[in-house]
Amino acid sequence: MSFSVMSQNSIPNTFGIAATADCYKVVGHEDELRAMLADPALIEKPCLILGGGSNMVFTRHFPGTIIHLENKGVRLVEVQGDDLFVEAAAGEVWDDFVRYCISQGWHGLENLVAIPGTVGAAPVQNVGAYGMEAKDVIHSVRAYELGTGVEHVFSNDECRFGYRDSIFKHELKGKYVVGSVLFRLHRTFAPNIRYKALSDALSSAGITNPTPLQLADTIAEVRWSKLPRPEETGSAGSFFKNPIVSAEHYERLKADYPDIVAYPVADGYKLAAGWLIERAGWKGRTLGRCGVYEKQALVLVNRGKCTGADVIALADAITDDIQTRFGVTLEKEAIII
Ligand SMILES: Cc1cc2nc3c(=O)[nH]c(=O)nc-3n(C[C@H](O)[C@H](O)[C@H](O)COP(=O)(O)OP(=O)(O)OC[C@H]3O[C@@H](n4cnc5c(N)ncnc54)[C@H](O)[C@@H]3O)c2cc1C
Repeated sequence: MSFSVMSQNSIPNTFGIAATADCYKVVGHEDELRAMLADPALIEKPCLILGGGSNMVFTRHFPGTIIHLENKGVRLVEVQGDDLFVEAAAGEVWDDFVRYCISQGWHGLENLVAIPGTVGAAPVQNVGAYGMEAKDVIHSVRAYELGTGVEHVFSNDECRFGYRDSIFKHELKGKYVVGSVLFRLHRTFAPNIRYKALSDALSSAGITNPTPLQLADTIAEVRWSKLPRPEETGSAGSFFKNPIVSAEHYERLKADYPDIVAYPVADGYKLAAGWLIERAGWKGRTLGRCGVYEKQALVLVNRGKCTGADVIALADAITDDIQTRFGVTLEKEAIII
C-alpha cells in the first residue's frame, strides 16, 4: 500500500482549518477502498475516515492515516410498487445526491437538501433537518471492516439510529467504513411541511401545494438565511448539543428566565443551547480568530486563518460561562480531532 505522506492545507474541512496527517489518501472507487481496508497494517496506527469534513474540527496533526472517500455513483436498484430502492456511493456529495433524486422524480429526501457533507456520513451522523432524519429513508448500509476489508450490510435496525447518532459512533466507531447507502424512496411525492419555519416560509411565498423543487428550494433558502454557507464562512454547523436538564432544574431556570426555550423529553427538558449562548451575550462575539455566528449562536465560525486551538479556546470560554450562569454543561456536537 502506498500513501502520500503529509498533506498541508488540502485536507478538506468546512471550518477551513489547515490540517495535517502522517498519511492522507483519497479513494475514488469502492474496489480500491476494499483492497486498502484489507491490509491489516492499516489499523496499526490511528485511522480517520473523512467525507466532507463538515462536522470536524482539526486541533492537532493527525498521527495516522486519513482516508478521504470520493467514490461516486447513484443507481436505481429496484422498483416495488411505489417504493424505489436507490443506491448511492459514500463519496457522493449529499446535496448533489438529493437534487439528483428530485430531478429523477425519486421522492423522500427533499427536506434534507443542502446539508453539507457526503452520502457516507449521512448514516453515521443520522443527519436531520426540517422535520426528518436520514434514518427515515435509509434501507441499509454497505460497509467494510478496517483491517480485513470484509463487507457487511447493516439493516436500518442494525444501524441503531438515534438523534444525530448511530452504531457507527459507538460500538463500530473506527471499525467500519461506509462504502454505499441504499435508500427507500418513493414515486409519490408527499411533502412534509410540518416544520413551522418551513410552513411559514411557504405561506409567505404564497405556496400551498409545493412541487418537490419548490419545497427543496424553500428549505435551502430558509436554511441559508440562518446558517453560514461553507463556501463563504468556515464552520462545522451546530457546534454544541442541546443539553438535557432535570424538570427541577428547568423549573428553576424558567423562574429566572421566563422566555427560556426548551421542550419536554423523557428524562427532563431539552434546552436550546443557542438560546443559552445568546442570552449569555456571546452571539456575534469573537475571541482570537474564532467567533459566534451573528445569526445563530449555536454556530462557531472562522474569522480568518482560525486554528483548532482558537476554536477550542472560544468553545471552552462559552462552556465555562454557561456553566456559571445557568448551571448547565454544554457538550460539543462537532467532532474534535
Ligand atoms: C453550515 C453547516 C450546516 C449543517 N447543517 C446540518 C443539519 O442541518 N443537519 C445535520 O444533521 N448536520 C448538519 N451539519 C453537519 C454535517 O453537515 C453533517 O454531520 C454531515 O453528515 C457531515 O458529512 P461529512 O461527509 O462532511 O462528514 P465528516 O465531517 O467528514 O465526518 C463526520 C463523521 O462521519 C465519519 N464518516 C464520514 N464518512 C464516513 C464513511 N464513509 N464511513 C464511515 N464513517 C464516515 C467521520 O469519520 C466522522 O466521524 C451542518 C454542517 C455545516 C458546516
